[in-house]
Amino acid sequence: MINIVLFGKPGAGKGTQADILKKHYELFHISTGDLFRYHIQGSTDLGILAKSYMDKGDLVPDKVTIDMLEETVTQNSNVKGFIFDGFPRTTGQAEALDAFLTNKSMSITATIALEANDKILTERLINRGKTSGRVDDQDENKIRNRFEEYNNKTAPLKSFYSTQGKFYSVNGIGSVEEITQRLTRLIDGFL
Ligand code: AMP
Repeated sequence: MINIVLFGKPGAGKGTQADILKKHYELFHISTGDLFRYHIQGSTDLGILAKSYMDKGDLVPDKVTIDMLEETVTQNSNVKGFIFDGFPRTTGQAEALDAFLTNKSMSITATIALEANDKILTERLINRGKTSGRVDDQDENKIRNRFEEYNNKTAPLKSFYSTQGKFYSVNGIGSVEEITQRLTRLIDGFL
């Protein structure tokens, strides 16, 4: 089984690349952002709660995020592996994921960060906001808040996974194809 965490700031290209990689390696793609948006569309209690955080660019609390993630993994356990996109985003989530996977005799193979600078990321997000309709992509203050959430709560995961010898960094600037090539060259080494 191969389990990849795609890591990176908002706009780094995690969703785009996860979509390509899931087909290439036949992995099950879990995007916690997409799961929340699905709940929002269905106006579930979880969706209503998540929306109150997401619309501001804040992270949704760990407990509900972890429960949702674990439920999705459990419901799809007969797969070749997972690609986690946008999870974990806090040390609490990373610790919960490790404990949960260990319990299922599974583990993270690698955490791969897509790196790009804030200026490029902001441009990408504003552009995406024009078509995605996502409130959190349309306002520079909200985008800045998402970067701050990342710097304060998610960036510490670099050292969390480095300590485990599982952290890899990939240049996230270039064409979609170029970035996919960088990722597959790295992931092929884990097969
Ligand atoms: P994304 O689609 O990954 O950009 O996520 C959009 C928003 O969903 C984030 O800004 C958070 O509000 C929320 N979200 C997604 N994943 C997580 C997570 N792992 N922990 C907390 N909040 C999350």
